[in-house]
Amino acid sequence: MIQRITLIAASVALGCLATLVPVFTSLYVANKDVQRRDRLELSEFADKAVMRTDLVTYQAIAALSDLDREPGAPCSPSNLEQAARVIYNYRYVQDAGTYADGHYLCSPLLGDVRNQDLTLPPPDYRSNDGYLVWFEQKSPLSDVRKDIQMGRDGHYVSIDPGSYVDLIDPARRPIAVVQITTGRLLAISAGADPDDMLNAWKHSGNVKSDEWNYAVAHSSTRPLGVVVMSPRSSVAGDWPKLLAAWLTIGVFAGAALGWLAYKRVSRQLSFPATLHWAISRRKIDVVFQPIVRLADNQCAGAEALVRWTLNGRAISPEVFVRVAEDNHLIQPLTDLVLEKTIAQLGKLLTANPSFYVSINVSGEDLQSFRFLNLLTASLNGTGIAPAQIRIEATERSFMNAEATRGFIAAFRAAGHPIYIDDFGTGYSSLSYLQTFEVDVLKIDKSFVDTIVQDTASSVVAPHIISMAHELGLQIVAEGVESGAQVTWLRDKGVQYGQGWYYAKAMSAGDLAKWLGKHRMPREANSMPAM
Ligand code: C2E
Ligand code: MG
Ligand code: MG
Repeated sequence: MIQRITLIAASVALGCLATLVPVFTSLYVANKDVQRRDRLELSEFADKAVMRTDLVTYQAIAALSDLDREPGAPCSPSNLEQAARVIYNYRYVQDAGTYADGHYLCSPLLGDVRNQDLTLPPPDYRSNDGYLVWFEQKSPLSDVRKDIQMGRDGHYVSIDPGSYVDLIDPARRPIAVVQITTGRLLAISAGADPDDMLNAWKHSGNVKSDEWNYAVAHSSTRPLGVVVMSPRSSVAGDWPKLLAAWLTIGVFAGAALGWLAYKRVSRQLSFPATLHWAISRRKIDVVFQPIVRLADNQCAGAEALVRWTLNGRAISPEVFVRVAEDNHLIQPLTDLVLEKTIAQLGKLLTANPSFYVSINVSGEDLQSFRFLNLLTASLNGTGIAPAQIRIEATERSFMNAEATRGFIAAFRAAGHPIYIDDFGTGYSSLSYLQTFEVDVLKIDKSFVDTIVQDTASSVVAPHIISMAHELGLQIVAEGVESGAQVTWLRDKGVQYGQGWYYAKAMSAGDLAKWLGKHRMPREANSMPAM
């Protein structure tokens, strides 16, 4: 039972594994796929952000060059007009003006401030090609606002840092722009952490984080770069888009494998497999039905009948014996019946040398010496005489006449009487009785049922009986259920009867008790004629 439970558990576990492994593999693959897509999307976004950086910077440079082209004197009307045009033309330029010696001079927004002493500190950065940059220059017009200011040859332009990072992005992913030479932040989206962004920049975006992905991009024209970040999407989060496809594949693969596992389990647990298990675990029992001498109502012997109870239900031997025959299980089944019969009836048989037990065998048992050898070996040293173990074979097992004849003779030669079981129900009846040497004929219950009735088939039993007499065979009537049948059979010279009229099949212990009432003391018993 434990082995069977282990088998079921193993198969179920296999089934679960077969279902779960593809699902989890799909989850893993889907997760990897989501991560790959995440990174790709973010890297594309970083490229867009750096394009904006280039565009804004390009506008600042172009604006400065436009200011430089105006030949008029600093802060002259034409000079201020040109500055106004520049502000108008370049979207990202907020103000454009003139400075000298660390002071603002004028701009369209400031007006002429030459007398106001508005200082301009030294720039934060000077490029090789002569541009000056103030990263966070406080506007003279506001206490709060700080601009990026770019200057060259006495002209400057102011740019709102927000211009660098206000890309239209429904996901609102944070952006930071870094001046590469100084490593300083030029602009950053509202809410993003400057230290975090600079750290990501320093590590080229390869920052370990469970929540965020980072990507960087470099400008191809200026020493500028961008860092962008976006929340990592989990597989569950992206379920509708990506996981659906992967999980569907996983579930189908899992279901297919689970189904295969289920098939395997059910094959393992099929009826023949269960029977095999029951035989090998010796879960099959034997009961004994008395065979009674009609002349004096004394029990002469018993027939061993196999019994199998599966999950509390008795399975008919008619069913499982046939299954055993069809699945090469009949030999181990016969062996088990023999083993249990000797174990349970051995004492009774040795104590009553005239008492016998008949064992049902199948065709396979009669087509080699295997069972005969086992039988001989099993009796060796037990004190049980060969004549006490009799062999019942149905007509079916005689069908392969050539293969069987010699072995039947061998059983008889070894001292085991041969009974033909269920006589009259098989294919051949009379013809083989002459070719096989047998000892006893058991008239099938279906004929015994008819003997005291006036039916068409009631003529068969008298025929069988007279034929058996002619051939010198003893007769056992099977399935005797009434006293009338007994009287009839006795009158016709039938020697033995077996049936519920006398007793149903019973355990060895019950048989011993039953025999106490239905069998004369040993000394008074005569050996049954053979
Ligand atoms: P069988 O060898 O002809 O056994 C006689 C069957 O008739 C038994 O059924 C027995 O219980 C039943 N029976 C006996 N007296 C009466 C009665 O008065 N009324 C009724 N209605 N039935 C009666 P069982 O035990 O169900 O066995 C059925 C068949 O299964 C056996 O028929 C035999 O062919 C086969 N079988 C049983 N045990 C073994 C075995 O150990 N080995 C093999 N190969 N076949 C077996
Ligand atoms: Mg039988
Ligand atoms: Mg029978």
